[in-house]
Amino acid sequence: MSKIVLKNAEEIALIRESALIVSKTLGMLASEIKPGISALELDQLAETFIRDHGAEPGFLGLYDFPNTLCMSPNDQVVHGIPTAKPLESGDIISIDCGALKNGFYGDHAYTFAVGEIAEETQKLLDVTKASLYKGIEAFVAGNRVGDLGFAVQQHTEAEGYGVVRELVGHGLGASMHEGPEIPNYGRRGRGKVFLEGMVIAIEPMINMGTHRIIQEKDGWTIRTADRKPSAHFEHDVALIDGKPRLLSTFDYIYEALGISSVEEDPFRFEA
Ligand code: MG
Ligand code: MG
Repeated sequence: MSKIVLKNAEEIALIRESALIVSKTLGMLASEIKPGISALELDQLAETFIRDHGAEPGFLGLYDFPNTLCMSPNDQVVHGIPTAKPLESGDIISIDCGALKNGFYGDHAYTFAVGEIAEETQKLLDVTKASLYKGIEAFVAGNRVGDLGFAVQQHTEAEGYGVVRELVGHGLGASMHEGPEIPNYGRRGRGKVFLEGMVIAIEPMINMGTHRIIQEKDGWTIRTADRKPSAHFEHDVALIDGKPRLLSTFDYIYEALGISSVEEDPFRFEA
């Protein structure tokens, strides 16, 4: 995923169109997630929804992934394969979704609570999501990849959480994974410089305990080594006029869940 491809306004608009389909899909899922429904049922709802919006599921068949959604409950970090097991109150589930339309991808993720979750688990979700916005804040002209990683790492390690090392964010466009790699850890002033027209997926994967992970025998599922929960939030962001502009939004999720939030306001896209 090493090649960096800078985008013009037209290409950014097309990526945004795909990202908004993912945003709406996650919003639709937010209304459906409750104890008793399975990840596989949600996966099928998402596939239908994406196709009804004139797009194709971005992950289905990519590197031979078998489903529309990566669904990673509890101690699973990312790349979980949806199963028929019903979700239970107290679970969390990280849902990563991709859509492909007009030759461009959208790709973002949200970790949902199922029913009532433990206070310490809610804190993991809140801190991980806040770290995503810390990362977005650092995606400005003149900064480097290490500045973004540092911001995410500092915010999450302050709580004693583990920052997953082996999986990273990435450039996004006509390919799901382009350069540069965007680690969620780093040193200030190090790494590639952020350039006008870059579009990246910023995606902290944060563990309540150790940062160490294990890949399950299915060849896909990544889980925490200590079996403690893990959270994952992801946005697609373009660098426009030197500043980060969100191409994806959690607004549809918040609408479904009745949450009001101003966290995206500083980064809203202005066409
Ligand atoms: Mg993703
Ligand atoms: Mg991604």
